[in-house]
Amino acid sequence: MKVLTSPAAARQAVDALSDRGVTTGLVPTMGAIHRGHLSLVQAARQENEVVMASIFVNPIQFNNPDDLARYPRTLEADLEKLKAAGCDLVFVPEARDMYPQQPLTQFAFGPLDEVMEGAYRPGHFSGVALVVLKLFHILRPQKAYFGQKDLQQFKIIERLVKDTSLPVTLRMLPIVREHSGLALSSRNQRLSGEGKQVAARIFQALQKAALELTTSRNITRSVAAAQQHLAASPGIEVEYLTWVNTDDLQPVERISNHDQLALCFAGYVEGVRLIDNIIVDIHADRSS
Ligand code: AMP
Repeated sequence: MKVLTSPAAARQAVDALSDRGVTTGLVPTMGAIHRGHLSLVQAARQENEVVMASIFVNPIQFNNPDDLARYPRTLEADLEKLKAAGCDLVFVPEARDMYPQQPLTQFAFGPLDEVMEGAYRPGHFSGVALVVLKLFHILRPQKAYFGQKDLQQFKIIERLVKDTSLPVTLRMLPIVREHSGLALSSRNQRLSGEGKQVAARIFQALQKAALELTTSRNITRSVAAAQQHLAASPGIEVEYLTWVNTDDLQPVERISNHDQLALCFAGYVEGVRLIDNIIVDIHADRSS
């Protein structure tokens, strides 16, 4: 497995691959690799001749300096895991090479980033969009793999790719969870054992809400069911809990002709910000 740190070296390696006409898939990450990331590598492995991953804790997408400073960094272990999962090339750039000067380019995604993460983390998606564009330009993958865990991020990148006619096919893969239901996240490393148990209530609450929605078809009752479950034990501070339709991520107050809805959660456990979501296919009454 090749590990490249300079954008110029990465470009050169990718040039050599494209001369040989091989198909490439990219899994962008911020490191602290877990089974969620590895599920993306596995999907990429099945669909491409060469699998690339990137590890970069992108400073410009953090609106909270403390969150950036505390973000776990476990490079050696990450490289081992990526190698074992069948990665061929890992790009691990330095911030000074990605941003030789403070970037001025900003993105706005209108209604897509006025809600949820966009509303609570101003500038976050502009920073995400810039780094993803840079990674796509440097590594030029034919396919790129993302997790449903960051549903809003996926929708925004999808729109960015469409708006800018980038020749990359995007894939969104399901959320990988602990046995308890807790969605795997690099930030879980900052939770105590007890914190993890508390945090497992988040997915239980989402499941209760999904069940309530498919039986009563009532958004208010569904959200109330989740809130009740979250409030039943202390330790979870809810930031938002919103049903949106998965097309445009706009909040939904009533079930109508929407094919697919997602209940999206953000909140804090032991001061650690966690997100999760559940997608419900209204017509087929299926959830994932
Ligand atoms: P991150 O390193 O947190 O920026 O995540 C890198 C990619 O892995 C993103 O596309 C995430 O959506 C995805 N990801 C993170 N956690 C999970 C998970 N539990 N299951 C599936 N994908 C995930």
